[in-house]
Amino acid sequence: MTQIHTQLSDRMENLRPSKESPYRIAIIGGGPRGLYCLESLSRALSHHSTDCPVAVDVFDPCSHPGAGNVYALDQPDYLRMNFPNGRIDAWGSENSRQIDQMSLLDWLQEHFPHLSNPEGYSPRPVVGRYLHECFRQVLEQFPSDVAVQVHQARVTEVIESGPAWKVSTTETSMLADNLVLTTGHEGWRSTGTLSNQHDARIIEHVFPVGRQLSQARIPAQSTVAIRGFGLTWIDATLALTEGRGGTFSETADHWTYQRSGDEPTKIFPYSRTGRPLLAKSVEPQMKLPSCLSDIWESGRLAIAAVPQSDDPSRQVEELWQTITNVSAQALQAIRTTSSSASVRSDLSDWFTWWKSSKFSAAQAYDVMKRSRDVGIGLSQPNEAWIWGETWRRIYPALVARVSHGGLCVAGWKLFREVTIEMERLAFGPPPENMSRMLALIDSGIVDLRFVSEAELTQGLHELDLCSDHHRKEVNVVVNAVIPAPCEISPRGPISSLLDGNAIAWDNREIGLPVDEHGCPPPYQRKNLAIFGRVTEGTVLGNDTLSRKLHPQIENWAQKTAQRVLNREYTL
Ligand SMILES: Cc1cc2nc3c(=O)[nH]c(=O)nc-3n(C[C@H](O)[C@H](O)[C@H](O)COP(=O)(O)OP(=O)(O)OC[C@H]3O[C@@H](n4cnc5c(N)ncnc54)[C@H](O)[C@@H]3O)c2cc1C
Repeated sequence: MTQIHTQLSDRMENLRPSKESPYRIAIIGGGPRGLYCLESLSRALSHHSTDCPVAVDVFDPCSHPGAGNVYALDQPDYLRMNFPNGRIDAWGSENSRQIDQMSLLDWLQEHFPHLSNPEGYSPRPVVGRYLHECFRQVLEQFPSDVAVQVHQARVTEVIESGPAWKVSTTETSMLADNLVLTTGHEGWRSTGTLSNQHDARIIEHVFPVGRQLSQARIPAQSTVAIRGFGLTWIDATLALTEGRGGTFSETADHWTYQRSGDEPTKIFPYSRTGRPLLAKSVEPQMKLPSCLSDIWESGRLAIAAVPQSDDPSRQVEELWQTITNVSAQALQAIRTTSSSASVRSDLSDWFTWWKSSKFSAAQAYDVMKRSRDVGIGLSQPNEAWIWGETWRRIYPALVARVSHGGLCVAGWKLFREVTIEMERLAFGPPPENMSRMLALIDSGIVDLRFVSEAELTQGLHELDLCSDHHRKEVNVVVNAVIPAPCEISPRGPISSLLDGNAIAWDNREIGLPVDEHGCPPPYQRKNLAIFGRVTEGTVLGNDTLSRKLHPQIENWAQKTAQRVLNREYTL
């Protein structure tokens, strides 16, 4: 039995279960990971004994579970994916896959054939539709004695109630035998509030763009500063240009922007370093030697073989040397005339330059353009591409090698310096979005003069961007820096678990540690699992749509089915 968007009336706190009561599972968060939990659970329970009924309650305030708020269906199409179509598949098992359980690509072929390119990057609301349809399908595939209810509600508190969990919304509460948190970004927030008091000139977060960046809040012809130079900066900039009726056109790989007149006069991104995200590449457009695939494969094996060590610096150094070796082999395969020593030193010199640079407007523009040109085969692969591509290719092996205790806490802190830079090189925008940003810079709307080491000064009447060389008054500032994984919401369910000492998180500079079933410290409460962004830092790459990188959700589902079978009720 399945129901979407119900009241909790039949699972109220005081209604203690009788012997025939079902085993109760509460899933807080109905984004992609909430969907993945349900999908894995439906398979794990598909053969369970019918005399142990199960009740699953999913909580999310969003209107389309599965999509959650990141892939909301009502957002504009110019907000695009950063992950190619061919890599998105909501279904976790190839072996037991049914014919109607489609990957995104198959689904696009049926519903949006013009988008069905494996190397293409679809609008986020389209991917949201796919995820929501998968969610509805998953509800249908639960055995008949598993009742799933979806509550369109935000959970305000979770506390221990003996061996069970008490889950509360503003309306009501319920008790659960088994609790899962997949609250991801915990709604739309930004990091480091720009102002402590209400100031209409300061927009504290970008999403949802229709409300946050509307023309009423940012009038046409205004001058806008955007804090941050990452993916959210790109979304905000598109909302203020393409979203205001401007258009892009492409001729012979050169993109130009035609103004609508409703966009700001100037958009100034500002950040600490000015180091941009670099464009991803479209492999079929690049002429790459076939031996690269062997290099990536041996690179993955080499990462898996990096030995454990008690010394954190040594742990990270060994990983770094392995990454460098793989990158050097790849560069040598491309520059066949260079010696192995010279490619290695070119790569090291380049990386040292990259990570110590504060970029000027011209430097930032040049590296962005070069990455786009390399990514679509207009320029030869350079050091930046080799580092980024190596990171992308060996990533699954790195995830397996460093997660769940593969690195100690001190090791994670050191390794984070590597991951921050590598993510800029490897996980930037698709080439088409980089082309849009370059076109906006060429048009003069986006101005990079404050891109590094600029500060915002806020007076009663004026808002100024200042750097050593420039000063400019702006009308509005937009905060486009999303909170780091460990910056949890003080009002969210993870905070309430911490406040009640139900979980322990000693090193708050890195992600919440979890075991291979998603269970956080002190690891005794095996009926609690936390998946996703908050664990990023002790589980590598845990904030992605990919289902292939991390086995924790599948492990949790198998274990939970076992607990149902063993009738491990807590109530
Ligand atoms: C703007 C943006 C673009 C992105 N683009 C990509 C991309 O192209 N490719 C990619 O792989 N990844 C992308 N990501 C990363 C993205 O977070 C993951 O793809 C994916 O959304 C993670 O799924 P999740 O379920 O763990 O978290 P989320 O998607 O954040 O879902 C969490 C859900 O929990 C709900 N929730 C939060 N708090 C509560 C509460 N108290 N009670 C009940 N429900 C609650 C939220 O409403 C939300 O629906 C992007 C992230 C952002 C922010």
